[in-house]
Amino acid sequence: MYICAGLTSNHIPLNQHLHHIAVADSPCCPACPETDESLHHFLFDCPQYAQEHHVFGRAIGQEATSLSYILTEEHALGLLIQFVNATVQLRHTFSEVSLPEHNAARR
Ligand SMILES: [Zn+2]
Repeated sequence: MYICAGLTSNHIPLNQHLHHIAVADSPCCPACPETDESLHHFLFDCPQYAQEHHVFGRAIGQEATSLSYILTEEHALGLLIQFVNATVQLRHTFSEVSLPEHNAARR
């Protein structure tokens, strides 16, 4: 299970992993400064993605809280990829919103 989680986190830009490979300054979740952004936090706990958790949970059903199920079932993996795509879009939206645009707004 930990091998699977490691493989998957290589494909998901989570800070805990990015910090480990020295890409990110901090292993913490951008939305939860006191929590490492682990795969488990990202998939199950992070309040930033509550809406996506809800959609994901409804699509998978009871097994939605089992990481080993999600990483081994083809059906669940497909839903996981959809979840990741949805949250990555959220992140881009987040960074677009926080960009300073004073120069563009001058006139
Ligand atoms: Zn979080």
